[in-house]
Amino acid sequence: MNNKLAIFGGRPIRDKYLPYGHQWLDEDDIEAVVQVLRSDWITQGSKIKEFEKAVAEYVGAKYAVAVSSGTAALHAACFAAGISKGDEVITTPITFVASSNCILYMGGKPVFADIKEDTYNIDPEEIEKKITNKTKAIIPVDFAGQTANLNEIHKIAQKHNLTVIEDASHALGAHYKINNKWIKIGSCLHSDMAIFSFHPVKPITTGEGGMVVTNNTEYYEKLLMFRAHGITKDPDKFTNEKIRNAPPWYYEMQELGYNYRITDFQCALGISQLRKLDGFIKRRREIVKKYNESFKSVEEIITPYEKPDVKSAWHIYVIRLKLDKLRATRKEIFEALRAENISVQVHYIPVYYHPYYQKLGYKKGLCPKAEKYYEESITLPIFPAMKDQDVNDVIQTVHKVLYYYRR
Ligand SMILES: *Cc1c(COP(=O)(O)O)cnc(C)c1O
Repeated sequence: MNNKLAIFGGRPIRDKYLPYGHQWLDEDDIEAVVQVLRSDWITQGSKIKEFEKAVAEYVGAKYAVAVSSGTAALHAACFAAGISKGDEVITTPITFVASSNCILYMGGKPVFADIKEDTYNIDPEEIEKKITNKTKAIIPVDFAGQTANLNEIHKIAQKHNLTVIEDASHALGAHYKINNKWIKIGSCLHSDMAIFSFHPVKPITTGEGGMVVTNNTEYYEKLLMFRAHGITKDPDKFTNEKIRNAPPWYYEMQELGYNYRITDFQCALGISQLRKLDGFIKRRREIVKKYNESFKSVEEIITPYEKPDVKSAWHIYVIRLKLDKLRATRKEIFEALRAENISVQVHYIPVYYHPYYQKLGYKKGLCPKAEKYYEESITLPIFPAMKDQDVNDVIQTVHKVLYYYRR
């Protein structure tokens, strides 16, 4: 038998390390990229618009603006929303730092609202408590691919005249139900803008890449400018009176934008990947089903909760340890799982724990539920390219390690 934990010198469940997330690229994805590389336009060509159109159609939004990363998308969305010095923006501490850093980029102040205990998503009641006369926007994150309480957040935003920028980095392809109707994430029915990331562990990938979607024309135009240095080439938008009859070379830089452009070969990959998204999510759901069924018998963990009115994109699968039922710390269990060659992770360290935020004056104790969640959570591998054997290895490893440490 193979009972001795690898961390104590036993044989690991796997010989080869299993990552927690991984892209799935086929020959046709590669071919799509190569075709663009052989063409005249490897950037600023037609593939960018084509990808934007494909994503906008897929999610059911009017406009889409592709950028160089999810972080750039968040930055651009904060710019379009007009976040500026002194503005407060409410977000969750259980997210990647980019969801909050984008507020700082604009000179705004991130305000952290605690999470819900079942979904680990930002709690609308906690949002309400944090609203002041300086609050300008809310950035909910669809954690793990499960949509935040967008309907409730939307109502709060309307009541207080706030902009909602949805960080849907985990959730391309997810749905939520309102009045018995399934709504796709990114349709922006309950948010002003939604952003996606195309990093390799995300639902689809372009290497690095991101997108903002919106139904609002004004935001759309600002996003376009921000992506390209704040420059416009549209004569109708020129503000310099003397140049009303603009010469052909003329353009105006009107805002302090960035170069946040994405390349055409990345967008070609994105178009190709998007066609596979529904299949990817289907596979993720299969894996979740296997995990859930197998972990029913493991009393020392809490498996993730999917609300009945949500269809998660299952970007990550987070288990929570019942530490009072275990003879080990989260760190010991984490290391034991890794020693079996299963790459577990933790999503996330509360944003305000990071030294940069501590220096800004954020103190531990701010969001008790988020902090407790952080102490107890471990992310198991999940990605569509996982083989059944990989899934079984994860299951076996969890059983092996938790069996050993149970009280
Ligand atoms: C990945 C991620 C981002 C940042 O996306 P990049 O494309 O890596 O810049 C932002 N927010 C969340 C929640 C993410 O998971």
